[in-house]
Amino acid sequence: AETTKGKPKWLRVKLPTGKKYTQLRKLVDTYDLHTICTSGSCPNMGECWGEGTATFMILGNVCTRSCGFCGVKTGRPSAIDWAEPEKVGRSIKIMGIRHAVITSVDRDDLKDMGSILWAETVKAIRRMNPDTTLETLIPDFQGVEQHLDRILEVAPEVISHNVETVRRLTREVRIQAKYDRSLGVLKYLKDQGANRTKSGIMLGLGETEPEVLQTLEDLREAGVDVVTIGQYLQPSKRHLPVKEFITPEQFDKYREAGLAMGFRHVESGALVRSSYKAHKHIH
Ligand code: SF4
Ligand code: SF4
Repeated sequence: AETTKGKPKWLRVKLPTGKKYTQLRKLVDTYDLHTICTSGSCPNMGECWGEGTATFMILGNVCTRSCGFCGVKTGRPSAIDWAEPEKVGRSIKIMGIRHAVITSVDRDDLKDMGSILWAETVKAIRRMNPDTTLETLIPDFQGVEQHLDRILEVAPEVISHNVETVRRLTREVRIQAKYDRSLGVLKYLKDQGANRTKSGIMLGLGETEPEVLQTLEDLREAGVDVVTIGQYLQPSKRHLPVKEFITPEQFDKYREAGLAMGFRHVESGALVRSSYKAHKHIH
């Protein structure tokens, strides 16, 4: 579990409550459904689930990469489960999710990097849940256009890809990723007609204010529509330490700056996660 020592008061969260949350929690436990919301014990569950939003992870739970901030296990991933698209579609149906966020581990071990299963998942969800809107939070697919095209073809309402941090810290934070490659992915998606593109960064890893503003500028230049800015929290002692707790005032400042740059939506706050208030980002 993440360390709570020295955490400022704005990071202390209430346990999720609400009728809808309680109902969904029961379903998830009964049917053994897998959401990032529960496996990551996200602080926003009461709110998101209450609004009919949840995040699902596909392509297994072992990642070929080892980002310094991420709690997902690294190693040799399991074989592809071709029944997964149906399973996710069914989970969404059982839970009555109105807006689903789909994400995955990175599968650099596969020739298609998992992009075919990605597309199949979107199709299965649509078939089983014609009224549910979708956000696909995708890996960089190493920037390979053919893989990105598979996502574009199934046209999710929102396509997101997170840069996670500022340029200078990318090597430390996402060792196998590249800042410019991520920007290139976002730009390609927009240029090819993606409906809405979205990206996110975490703060508190040692970045400076000018670096954050520059990152926002870079994302805007890549045509990104929606940006999320949240506080980094250490998933375990083996992960990168928190260098700083960003104040609510500073988060407000970044929101204002982002809106002035022309983003459609900026979610900025300590507890903001990539999929926080995701249902609002389709419009
Ligand atoms: Fe789930 Fe994302 Fe909401 Fe957290 S912010 S509860 S992971 S949808
Ligand atoms: Fe975690 Fe994604 Fe990095 Fe894999 S690529 S370690 S899932 S952040």
